Amino acid sequence: MSLRVAAAARAIAILSLLAGAALLPAAAEGATAAPGDRGSAVRASPARVAIQELLDRRSTAVATRDRQAFLSTIEDSSPAFVRRQRRLFDAMGGIDFDGYELRARWGRYGDLVRPSDRRRYPGASSVSIPLTEERYRIAGFDAEDAAEDLFYTFVERDGRWLIAEDTDLDDIALFSARHLWDQGRLTSESSEHFLQLEHPCDGSDCLELSGDFLALAERGVARVEAYWDGPWRKNTLVLVPGSTKELARMLQATIDLDNFVAFAYSTVDVENSFDYTGHRILLNPKAFQVESEDQVFTILAHELLHIATRDAAGPFMPVFVDEGFAEITAYDGDPEALAFFVAEQAAGNFDGKLPKDFEFNTGEGTDIYMSYQEAQSAVKFFTDEWGLATFNDFYRTLGAVDLAPGTTRYHLDRALNESTGLGYAEFQKQWASSINGL
Ligand SMILES: [Zn+2]
Repeated sequence: MSLRVAAAARAIAILSLLAGAALLPAAAEGATAAPGDRGSAVRASPARVAIQELLDRRSTAVATRDRQAFLSTIEDSSPAFVRRQRRLFDAMGGIDFDGYELRARWGRYGDLVRPSDRRRYPGASSVSIPLTEERYRIAGFDAEDAAEDLFYTFVERDGRWLIAEDTDLDDIALFSARHLWDQGRLTSESSEHFLQLEHPCDGSDCLELSGDFLALAERGVARVEAYWDGPWRKNTLVLVPGSTKELARMLQATIDLDNFVAFAYSTVDVENSFDYTGHRILLNPKAFQVESEDQVFTILAHELLHIATRDAAGPFMPVFVDEGFAEITAYDGDPEALAFFVAEQAAGNFDGKLPKDFEFNTGEGTDIYMSYQEAQSAVKFFTDEWGLATFNDFYRTLGAVDLAPGTTRYHLDRALNESTGLGYAEFQKQWASSINGL
């Protein structure tokens, strides 16, 4: 049996965000701020004003497709960076942006520049690395801004600021976002709800999706509607990186991606109450290659369920609830869907415990798969006992808790109690008993 595990990138996206936040002292709020950087009444320094003006010129160049103006915002000290920037601008021509904006957010981390960064730019009179927020919408797909973090190095020479690099903080894991369009030109296919973007095949090792791929995705929308009764924006981008390496860089993933075939990815808009925006499905081209049409459909339905529920999910949603919900939606009562779990239980390998968040992305492929199976079983137990509508309500109740005191277990306990009359421990016990036939 070839293992296949589909995962949500939400946890990954949040992890990388928190890792960055934990790494650095909170920036001094109330320090000088660039125009538009909310929360500060202090007048911006001339340097910060100049940097924001540079970013504004760059944003306008993207919007007006002005290659010369775009390239005039970068320094030519690094030939590799200049090459990447040319490639980026050219590939962005294939994207229909409905809004594009760059903002230096000095209030997030302050100025991250270190003496070692300054030494990379001899002769510069000043070097700064604030967090640069990229906000953009793709026409017809993004109802709200997708928001990504960039770490441009701004260098001042002769009174003029330019962008010299975007990888200087890689060594402390503050990576600039990488889009599919960072890696070069794209081709697109579309259907009623989907836009599929990938690099043109160069004849070597690229993923050939079947011609029915978007038809399967459209069927996935109908499947999700049978399981999730909340509103959701069905227009979704499907991004197909050229390699697992490109995928890993886009996700900023530190886990082994070989076990995973697809990811539901959302950006986190920290300027707007940590909203999830910019929903995309990313495929792992290597893992996707061997999937049958049925499996592709299952994967798409799974990821679409994540996208459908994302706006209702909150910081206290345990991974087993999300993954279990996605799996019951994808498998839709298929009696074979829990075959692995049944065999493991029969072999005495079921510990009766609901899987913890970390068990979905670390460890051996079989262990990860067992966590998905347990999650599917637990959510199926919930819907069998209390109904799908009650599960939908439970999901919304738990997801509505936002920036509240208390642990995930506490909020899960409360929401479960409200919907089923059982707390976490009792729910776990009854589920395990139903499996063990006790
Ligand atoms: Zn998933």
